[in-house]
Amino acid sequence: MGRAGSTGVADEAYDALPTPVFHVHNERLLYANPAALEMLEADASDDVVGRSIFDFVHPIDRVRIVTRLKRLENKARRYFGIEMLIRTCHGELRGVTVSAVAASPPAQGIIVVAMDVTRHRMKTYLRETERNIVRLFENTTDIYYRIDAEGKLLMASPAVERILGYRADELLGQDSSLFYADPNDRNALIEVLMRDKAIADYEVRLRGKQGQLVDVSVSSHALFDEEGNYIAVEGVIRDLTERKQLERRLRVLATADELTGIRNRRVFFEHAASALQRARRHRRPMVLMILDIDWFKRINDRFGHLGGDRALRAFAQTAGLELRDIDLFGRLGGEEFGVVLEDCPLGEARAVGERIRARVASLSLDMGEGVSLLMTVSIGATLSGQADARIEALLERADRALYLAKQSGRNRVQWDIPGPQPAGM
Ligand code: GH3
Ligand code: MG
Ligand code: MG
Repeated sequence: MGRAGSTGVADEAYDALPTPVFHVHNERLLYANPAALEMLEADASDDVVGRSIFDFVHPIDRVRIVTRLKRLENKARRYFGIEMLIRTCHGELRGVTVSAVAASPPAQGIIVVAMDVTRHRMKTYLRETERNIVRLFENTTDIYYRIDAEGKLLMASPAVERILGYRADELLGQDSSLFYADPNDRNALIEVLMRDKAIADYEVRLRGKQGQLVDVSVSSHALFDEEGNYIAVEGVIRDLTERKQLERRLRVLATADELTGIRNRRVFFEHAASALQRARRHRRPMVLMILDIDWFKRINDRFGHLGGDRALRAFAQTAGLELRDIDLFGRLGGEEFGVVLEDCPLGEARAVGERIRARVASLSLDMGEGVSLLMTVSIGATLSGQADARIEALLERADRALYLAKQSGRNRVQWDIPGPQPAGM
């Protein structure tokens, strides 16, 4: 082994040592003994000597090592057992523990003695990794699972108990079809999985131990052996219950009138328009009513805006009592409301309008201090004809009827029935 340059330290003695020894000065390697060359996988001393030690120290340890080197060279301190990662001449990562001491004058720099602890480090690292995986498996809020090629459950993380109500151990060996609310969902999922080898965020509904339905999303991939045979599926099942509830709440918020909780104007007209399309298709008329509370300004004047709001809520609730679940009821704005009745013969629709009017008139809202609020409503109503292609046509007639109802004394229902159909309709 050739010696590169005289370093003033007892190189000959180090040459014989089975332990890697380096002589470092100004961050450069001045000498490395044979054991050190072997540790760095250097073919010759020249591969190493003269190079910066940071050609070998892993970047994550660089700052730590720089500061220690400075202290060592300045104050002749000693360091024992500094752990660091190095990269060998062949690019392999190694864990080493080094001890360092300032070289004795007149020699300059430091003497570094190293020990390869890669094997030990790897073991610790693997143990840690395993511990982390187990911790993840045990504590994840999602279900991690594995199913064999026959569809039998091989493993499921403990979260399965919170989400589906089954203990993980009672599920082992069970057929995965047990969980699907709809067997078709399972078949569809398997089909995609076999085609694409993986599936992400596939939303399905599972059935829990108590029969409860649970919305989940499944992300999984198929596993194959060396010969390419399908052997298992593993993946993650995420509970979507909360998200679904939130979505439902948001949907309600987006479609409801804030004050009364019934449909808002936009949704009312959307639904009314599709009701009209159905009515035309089935050649069955639909009914549109516009309800406008009488003298509402006076109510506001007398009871204040908040009192007016209470009256609006009470009105919506009261009128709603006369409507079926399938009827459409919405607030069009202010103290104006809309009703759509589908599949309702004219005679019945007239009765509904009349009952709403009467019920509102008989409502007595207790405003406290012995005062009650009374109100009446005027209703303009119309029926769709085959000539009515758009909901606006009905709206116009109902509005006109409402105007007439107000003109003729309020607290009444006024109908505007379209004339005979044009020929050909
Ligand atoms: P009419 O019998 O002719 O319908 O008389 P009216 O007083 O009801 O007349 P109009 O329809 O012009 O007045 C509606 C009033 O409703 C006007 C407005 O101040 C009030 N209003 C509109 N929106 C709200 C609301 O959200 N809350 C309350 N408290 N009042 C409202
Ligand atoms: Mg009005
Ligand atoms: Mg009014």
